[in-house]
Amino acid sequence: MRTITRSLPAFAAALALASLSASGLAAQAGADVQKAVDAAYAKYRTLKEGKNADYIPALAKVNPDLFGIAVVTADGKVYTAGDVKSEVSIQSISKVFTMAQVIQEQGADAIEKTIGVDATGARFNSIIAVEAVRTVVGSGAPEMNPLVNPGAISATGMVRGASADEVWKKIIGFHNDSAARNLDVLQDVYKSESDTNQRNQAIGALMLAYGYIKSNWQQAVDLYTRQCSIGVNARDLAVMASTLAFGGKNPVTNKQVMDAAKVPNVLAVMATAGLYDDSGKWLYHTGLPAKSGVGGGIIAVSPGKFGIAVVSPPLDDAGNSVRAQRAIADISNSLGGNPLAPPSR
Ligand code: GLN
Repeated sequence: MRTITRSLPAFAAALALASLSASGLAAQAGADVQKAVDAAYAKYRTLKEGKNADYIPALAKVNPDLFGIAVVTADGKVYTAGDVKSEVSIQSISKVFTMAQVIQEQGADAIEKTIGVDATGARFNSIIAVEAVRTVVGSGAPEMNPLVNPGAISATGMVRGASADEVWKKIIGFHNDSAARNLDVLQDVYKSESDTNQRNQAIGALMLAYGYIKSNWQQAVDLYTRQCSIGVNARDLAVMASTLAFGGKNPVTNKQVMDAAKVPNVLAVMATAGLYDDSGKWLYHTGLPAKSGVGGGIIAVSPGKFGIAVVSPPLDDAGNSVRAQRAIADISNSLGGNPLAPPSR
């Protein structure tokens, strides 16, 4: 009895101390995040490697100096450096959220059985990749991937809806919920890509011919082009990444955007194919599921820790933003973000 009465105040004191140091730790962790973001911004601000994408004419006109970094933590706090307000087109990063929408709506099996989830190891708009996997289609499950154009156009074609409008509302709705704001299509990019996307139209037609798209490939290509033209800034993209980092629950709005149990499927495809044919190299250095877009954005996810995004238009040969790759790798490594590394304590 004596020991209990004595230990109670000691227990209370210990509790108070623990919560004090927990909030102290949170503040310290916040300072560390900002420090890492600032350091990467300073280090890469003047880096001039890479070149804007120009096969979509509107992308060539985007300011190549645009550089913004944002990190979102579990408490919904957003840490930023540089220009996190100017918008670029989301491009291929939208593929993640449309795939996620299909997984949410129709289950993880639907994507695997209709499109496949293996990396093609080829460029994002490769037609050879379509032909290569075609040889194994008859023998079993399809082998396309929803994060490169053929599979992505097919995934857009899978979103259910009685009209193009209805499908679009679902696609943009999922993006909005993940970003915590209403996003708009950049009309100049949409027009520019619609005028020049004959290659994607050819891919769409092939996907119908090979059974990946069931009907109306033209609608799938058009909606895919529209989703690629959604305007986002680095902050939006980081919030979108954080929704995936925290089990499908947007930490800014606390809205559950997708079922937590389905998020690992999304992250797995990002890990294997998010940076096209450089996905292996990226994973080797960071361990992070990520996705790039030819607009210059990259998102990356450290599950349970943070979502991060960088916007910087100049791309390397694989089509991935040079500064975004470097900044994200540095920040994640200094915050212990690699999910494949053993916990530091
Ligand atoms: N809309 C672009 C395309 O289809 C997206 C490509 C990308 O970001 N890799 O070519």
